[in-house]
Amino acid sequence: MTQGARVTTRPGTPSREAATHCPYCALQCGMVLRENGRRVEVLPRQFPTNRGGLCQKGWTAAELLDHPDRLTTPLVRDRRGGELRPASWDEALDRVATGIRAVQDRYGRDAVAVFGGGGLTNEKAYALGKFARVALRTRHIDYNGRWCMSSAAAAGLRAFGVDRGLPFPLADLGRAETLLLVGANPAETMPPLLRHLADQRARGGRLIVVDPRLTATARQADLHLQPLPGTDLAVANALLHIALSEGWVDRAYVAERTSGFDEVRRTVAGYWPAEVERLSGVPVADLEATARALATVDRAIVLTARGAEQHAKGVDTVAAFINLTLALGLPGRPGSGYGCLTGQGNGQGGREHGQKADQLPGYRRIDDPAAREHVARVWGVPAEDLPGPGVPAYALLDSLGTATGPRALLVFGSNPVVSAPRAARIESRLRDLDLLVVADFLRSETAELADVVLPVAQWAEEDGTMTNLEGRVLRRRALREPPAGVRTDLAVLAALAARLEGGAAGGEGFPTDPRAVFEELRRASAGGPADYAGVTWDRVERDDGVFWPCPDPDGPDTPRLFADSFPTPDGRARFHAVTHRPAAEAVSAEYPLHFTTGRVLAQYQSGAQTRRVDALRRAAPNGFVELHPDLADRLGVTEGDEVRVVSRRGELRAPARVSPAIRPDTVFAPFHWPGAARANSVTNDAVDPISGMPEFKICAVRVERA
Ligand code: SF4
Repeated sequence: MTQGARVTTRPGTPSREAATHCPYCALQCGMVLRENGRRVEVLPRQFPTNRGGLCQKGWTAAELLDHPDRLTTPLVRDRRGGELRPASWDEALDRVATGIRAVQDRYGRDAVAVFGGGGLTNEKAYALGKFARVALRTRHIDYNGRWCMSSAAAAGLRAFGVDRGLPFPLADLGRAETLLLVGANPAETMPPLLRHLADQRARGGRLIVVDPRLTATARQADLHLQPLPGTDLAVANALLHIALSEGWVDRAYVAERTSGFDEVRRTVAGYWPAEVERLSGVPVADLEATARALATVDRAIVLTARGAEQHAKGVDTVAAFINLTLALGLPGRPGSGYGCLTGQGNGQGGREHGQKADQLPGYRRIDDPAAREHVARVWGVPAEDLPGPGVPAYALLDSLGTATGPRALLVFGSNPVVSAPRAARIESRLRDLDLLVVADFLRSETAELADVVLPVAQWAEEDGTMTNLEGRVLRRRALREPPAGVRTDLAVLAALAARLEGGAAGGEGFPTDPRAVFEELRRASAGGPADYAGVTWDRVERDDGVFWPCPDPDGPDTPRLFADSFPTPDGRARFHAVTHRPAAEAVSAEYPLHFTTGRVLAQYQSGAQTRRVDALRRAAPNGFVELHPDLADRLGVTEGDEVRVVSRRGELRAPARVSPAIRPDTVFAPFHWPGAARANSVTNDAVDPISGMPEFKICAVRVERA
């Protein structure tokens, strides 16, 4: 298959092809789209992450291109409570611009907010950040990546001085003698990744999985640790405690390449395995076996994902696992280290180029005067005109429509009505806005609340770049033009900027050509931690991906980080002493069970897209509540019975799925469905104090037969 193929039209045939990547998760599987007439076929493509594999979601991704629910005309609502009706682009954009100006005039510039998404291309994420800071001049922008990777990002920055999900290519997993997956279920979230695990197994490697559920991934493990949700941090500290007791710490590495170990050593001294067994339920023997498996081999990798991260102590939990890897001398050693499995398609690039409340492009901090000067120069505005940091996603959404919060919100590539924690409250906040604008290609649950809906292009209709879970910048290639009536997000931003800045000339800072935006992004990122200056469009085409940092177009890219030093001021990685603390909400007599959330194979994120794909809907038609047979017996519930899961914030109703795969003290529900089965009606909105990531993975509930 042609790796660098552009969209091609074969002479004499109506068919076209584009070598591109899946629109969904951060594995960014390579695929070829082939069009015959209006029919678009998906073919797998050899790429280092998927190695020719695709999951059901990727195979069926093209079904949405011509889906009957596809939006092809803007929609506006004339009055609250009224219906959305079709409108011209001019009417819709005028309505948005007028609404923004009215809110700004009355409440000030910070009264308009922007909410982005981890699926947007690098160019869109960059343009959205610039639009917020330059066209709107608001400090309020954040994105749904806060829900996914922000705790690992914060922990990585603190420890290593940089946040790149995997600091090595994914293929390194296949060479690890021991691989520890913490709160990760790639067998369901990114199945082609299992090809790398198969490699690892074929070479005699060991797989250990930490998960409160016996997931499809855990079933393949040599050892499954099944801790109580919210106790991963204690497990990590116990593993380091054992490594210290057994003399397995790499003292030369710790002395030469790290700082802060003494305090960590003192802290983990108190994490006696027997006590951690009582706390977490993980047997001492399994803790010991895990520590031994990591410490007594040449190559070991620890990966965390949402199970470890989506907690009010998510940053500290990840830090505990990073501490373990540093003590064992793993980061920077070939085939070894720590990494985070990024979830959303552009979760990595989306957090590098300015969608985050505290960030400017290139992973620069918005409160850093030198960073502001650099980016302001690229943008052609005075640095003092750039707003300061905003607030993380949940705080932003929870303030909407309140006396002190924004009164208008523009949403791009996100569906917080389903995906936000404590979702009923966020839904009510959205209803309180003076103006809600949603750019999407389907009527998502959030679009249903909007005053204006702007129909935008899909992944196969636009060019751009994405940055996958390895920090590899990829080309998304358009197969065909968007349908009549549909515009790209970049065109929407340009048109709005022109209206807001007074005439067509005002939109000049917002090019609609993705390549032009990428060129500007390269300049804006130059010299920053996520330096794309040397990642040229042509180079990405030629090499089918380039790893950042890459400061020089003629110099090498960086598939592996930390070989010689860490990008911290002194070149050393930093330990952080962290201690276990209970979940934000304890179980009680009224709410005696733990509730945790996650995904299923055939659905993706809020499900706005995948719930509309026939094959995926057939495979996973409804939400469900998974509970252990012992618990089901106690409650008098049998398979398929409708149950209510009730927390202090709300309830969900869904059929029971009785399974020994889950702990008897915990119930699970996937979060892809709206309405009665909405898992986020129940979840807790407690957030990590450093990352702002909500505690999706544990709260207290009771379960009843409905
Ligand atoms: S959803 Fe993820 S794992 Fe599945 S095909 Fe797409 S990129 Fe690959």
